[in-house]
Parts: sequence; structure tokens; C-alpha cells
Amino acid sequence: MQRLQTTVTFSSSAEEISHSSDEASGGGSANTDDKTNTRIKTHTKSSSDGQPLVSVVKSHRRNGSLRQRFESAEQLVQKFVTEAEAVAEHAVIKLCSDAWHVCHFNALPKWLQDNDFLHKGHRPPLPSFRQCFKSVFRLHTETGNIWTHGLGAALFVLLFAYSMVTFDYRERSFVDGLMLGIYFCGAITCLSFSTIFHTCSCHSREVSKFCSKLDYCGISIQIIGSMIPALYYGFYDNQIMYLTYITVGVVLCIISIVISMWDKFSEPKFRPLRVGVFLVFGLSNVVPGIHWAIVLESHLIGSFLLFILQGMLYVIGAALYAIRIPERFFPGKCDYWFQSHQIFHILVVTAAIVHLNGINGMAALRLSETQLQPVVEVQ
Ligand SMILES: [Zn+2]
Repeated sequence: MQRLQTTVTFSSSAEEISHSSDEASGGGSANTDDKTNTRIKTHTKSSSDGQPLVSVVKSHRRNGSLRQRFESAEQLVQKFVTEAEAVAEHAVIKLCSDAWHVCHFNALPKWLQDNDFLHKGHRPPLPSFRQCFKSVFRLHTETGNIWTHGLGAALFVLLFAYSMVTFDYRERSFVDGLMLGIYFCGAITCLSFSTIFHTCSCHSREVSKFCSKLDYCGISIQIIGSMIPALYYGFYDNQIMYLTYITVGVVLCIISIVISMWDKFSEPKFRPLRVGVFLVFGLSNVVPGIHWAIVLESHLIGSFLLFILQGMLYVIGAALYAIRIPERFFPGKCDYWFQSHQIFHILVVTAAIVHLNGINGMAALRLSETQLQPVVEVQ
């Protein structure tokens, strides 16, 4: 029986099957399998048992082709399983992330416990910003807080754009525009930072602390942003007093921001301190206010009264926030709506609108004063 020694070699690009026979030699041929891109070289014409060597080669080719197909099928199944696992994992994560439920105050971790008069409807910790921002569209204890300042911020952005579009650049000076800009930037910063805080406060202890610092900084920025234009128009003819009061305001602003950076400042037990710091800073306007009232020109009384109204709204809001009225008298009844923080937010936005009217009123009166000044002709 004629021995046939066969070597089969696979290569990655074009698998080549080479055969050698110790007896057979001679003519060879090369066949190419189109489907598998396999090149087959044959070096013998026949074997001893009468079977043509070409058919042996073809048998190997079939075996090679089958093996390759099997491997391809295996890879395909593996790929399919991997993709299916990824899709299933993604679906489970999405399901879990969207499946949170509001919880009772007692179920919250310590760092999320703030107002024990709100019993139900609290968000649990949501350690993902995506989840936090999606929670804006769900009902819980923070929904009202988020939207009252979120819509307030949007309103002030629109008012700022409107004021800039309708600003009379021929009649009014660059400083007039700057004063408006300072005021709007302060209000928008405060309302935006507050919205971010109320949205992300449930993310984690660290994020909550960082966002609460942003929130307090925003309050300080709004107070100084309100003071600068009011004092500018209030002491329009007395630049020394204007600069003196502004300097005091900026120093108080920096002090309140530094205190806000203290890690424990946001803890519930320091609520009275928080209220105290911002009330002292806000009420520091009383001194220039009294001064202004003494030297006040009668036609500015309207704006003066608006500033008093604005101050009263802030004080009422801060007082309600500090002593938690009305939920103190209706525990568990203001979990979603009419809680003190929401009322405080609405009063802050209202006060900001009142203040804007006061500034605009004074700016218009100062402009008319300038226009009414007699022109002195030089002989
Ligand atoms: Zn708030």
C-alpha cells in the first residue's frame, strides 16, 4: 500500500493547503475555493488504492472549509451572546435607575435629612447626575423648589435680553447699561445656582455640600448685585458716599462667601446662622437707605418705597424659611406644595422683580434730570 504523507497548513489570509507525497510527484495544479478563499496545491495525480489524490485533497478542502465555517459560526454565536449580555445589562441599569421611589423622611441618610416637618415624598440618594436631572420632571419634596427658581432664572434671562434689545444706547450711558448688567447677572446667578442645588442635592454628600455652597454664594452675589445699581442711582450726585457704601457692601459680600465655604454651614443646626449671615448682609442696606431717605429728592420716593417693599419680601421669606411656616403647623401636609422653602423662593423672585422696577424707575428719573439740566452757553 502506497503511503501518503500529507501536511495541511492554514494561513490567516489565504489558507493554503500543501500536500507532499514521498512517491507521488509530477504535475500539480492550484485550485481556489471562492467562498473560503483557499488556495489548494496538489502535487500528485493518484494514490495506491486507486483514489485520485485530487479527491483526497478535495476531502481535506471540505474538512478545512467545514472547520472554518464551524469556527465562524462559533464566533458569530459568541458575538451575539456578548451583545445580548450588553443589551440586557444596559436594560437592567436603566430599569433600576428609573425605578426609584420617593421615601419617608426617616428612610433618608443623615446628610439628606433637613426638614422633618416634610414626612413623605423625599428623593432617595440618586448617585447619578442623569437621574438627578430626570427627577426634575417627577413629583417630590424638591420639585417646587427646583421649578420656582428654575422658571425665575429663565424669566430673568428673558428680561435681560429684552432690556438689552430695548436699551436706548443714544440717550443712556455705558454705566447705565453696566448697572443693568450687574443687576441681571446677580439675579440670574443666584436663581441658577439655587436651581442646581435643589436638583443635585440628593446626588451624594459631597455633591450636596458643594452645591449648597454654590447656592449660598449665589445669594451673596445677588445681594451685592442689587446694592450696586441702587446705590449708584441713589447717590448719583455723591460719588464719595456711593463708593463708601459699595466698599462696605463688597467687604460684607466677601465675608458672607467665606463663611458659606465652611463645610458645616449647610447643616440643619446652623440654619439660624445662615439666616443671620444673609439678613445682616441684606439689611446692611438699611444704613444707606436711611441716609438716602434723609437727603431724598421727592420725585425718587416711588423707587425708595419699592426698595423698602423688596427688603420686606426678603425678610418675610427668610423668616418663614427659618421657622418653617406653614409646615410646622401642618406636619406632613406640605410635603409637595406650599412648604416654607417654596414660599421663600417665590418671595425672592418677586423681590427681585420689585427691585428691578425700582432701579429702572430711578435710572429713568436720573436720565430725565440730566436732560432737563440747563445748557450753559459759553460767551
Ligand atoms: Zn432654595
